[in-house]
Amino acid sequence: MSDGKTGSAKVEPLRKPRPCPECSRPSTRESYPFCSERCRNVDLSRWLSGSYAIPVVEDETKAGGEDER
Ligand SMILES: [Zn+2]
Repeated sequence: MSDGKTGSAKVEPLRKPRPCPECSRPSTRESYPFCSERCRNVDLSRWLSGSYAIPVVEDETKAGGEDER
């Protein structure tokens, strides 16, 4: 499928550079919003190791909900 656009291979970044959440360096487009693949992995592994604790609802067995009459 072709758009009919005649080739401009020039892509300019529309987003403002943001500091990397890990090391506060300017982010790159490849690894946005991080400065590098490495910082992205650091952030990811932090997620996986549970530093960002997500509260788990344990009461799902009790989903009967309508106890009030
Ligand atoms: Zn970084």
